[in-house]
Amino acid sequence: MNPMTTAATAMRHPEPPTTPGLGRVYNFSAGPACMPETVLAQLRDEITDFDGSGMGLLELSHRGPAYDRILADAFASVRACAGVGADWEVLFLPGGSMQHFSLIAMNFVPTAKAGAEQPWVAFADTGLWSHKGEKETACVRPTKKVFDGATCRFDHVPSDAEIADCTGAAYFAYCSNNTVEGTQFGRPPHVAAPLVCDATSDIFSRPFDLNAHALLFASGQKNLGASGITMVLVKKSFLERADTSLPPMLSYANFAKTESRPNTPPTFGVRVIGLMAQWTHEFGGPAAFGPRNAAKAAHIYKAIDGSGGFYRPSMRADCRSDMSISFQLPSDAHVDRFVAEAESEGLCGLRGHREWGGIRACVYNAFPAKGCEVLADFMGAFAKRNG
Ligand SMILES: *Cc1c(COP(=O)(O)O)cnc(C)c1O
Repeated sequence: MNPMTTAATAMRHPEPPTTPGLGRVYNFSAGPACMPETVLAQLRDEITDFDGSGMGLLELSHRGPAYDRILADAFASVRACAGVGADWEVLFLPGGSMQHFSLIAMNFVPTAKAGAEQPWVAFADTGLWSHKGEKETACVRPTKKVFDGATCRFDHVPSDAEIADCTGAAYFAYCSNNTVEGTQFGRPPHVAAPLVCDATSDIFSRPFDLNAHALLFASGQKNLGASGITMVLVKKSFLERADTSLPPMLSYANFAKTESRPNTPPTFGVRVIGLMAQWTHEFGGPAAFGPRNAAKAAHIYKAIDGSGGFYRPSMRADCRSDMSISFQLPSDAHVDRFVAEAESEGLCGLRGHREWGGIRACVYNAFPAKGCEVLADFMGAFAKRNG
């Protein structure tokens, strides 16, 4: 991290709160995850009365003027926050990230005419979510692993040289942050196919080269707020290739044409994404959160590295995630004790994913910085008592 950049960033932008408010805990949950308290307070007020309209947020017609504003605000805030250019569409769809693996394939992989070669989807299998994503995709179109993380027990994400040839693929799908395993791509891969990114767990967390991609998606429950809604950013030139014969409710082109309201949209989730994007933008956007998140994560990695092998991260040091910090303990009994004792000190949601075990600390944008120091101190004391 460049200290000059950090100082300049801090001067230009206010810092988000570093400690939780009264009665709140440090919530390390992977998702649904902690949100900014100011956003929660605004939502609380809007639930009963949206902007003096005499109607609550959940009671507004999705064709009325109040929702027109909510939607326009959400589009504008997302565009401002992520620097989304006019050559991109922003879409909001009901449902989680997982639906999009098959949807993207149906929209962007044509079924070959007789005798022609069937295009396929290239997958970098770097962890649980991309692994599941490939399975979802394979239900509708052929896929091929161009990187198989199982061969290295998911200890790193691939360099460009480790990715097999993608020539002939309709697109290359990858996951920018492996939420379960705790690895993160430092930059988008360079491959011979359009890039499709599952950015569910690190969207808005750092500067990101959107223009290297054709499409990017993220569901709400991490850096975007509520679960059950997914934001899709898609390059217009890519969208022009989409299959328009799909049922309209499965068609990205139709969502673009109808301003993401072909039917009753998830209006609450759209409001939450709008407020989360606005909050992120107010505090400097991804450019300011990048160094902040790196500094937060560094406290915890320091505790891991200083534990003399008591805490064992399963990933290579050059692929460590700043959002999802995952490590193993000497035994399951240690994990149970760690989780229970941490919780009694107000450090909650630390149990690792059920398919990966160990401990996982997710420290999304809204996670207060002080919590990373408190966890690091707890880890030091726990290792001393139990090592
Ligand atoms: C949490 C997560 C998902 C799951 O998203 P759903 O909204 O539950 O479908 C997918 N991908 C990544 C990278 C995640 O972190």
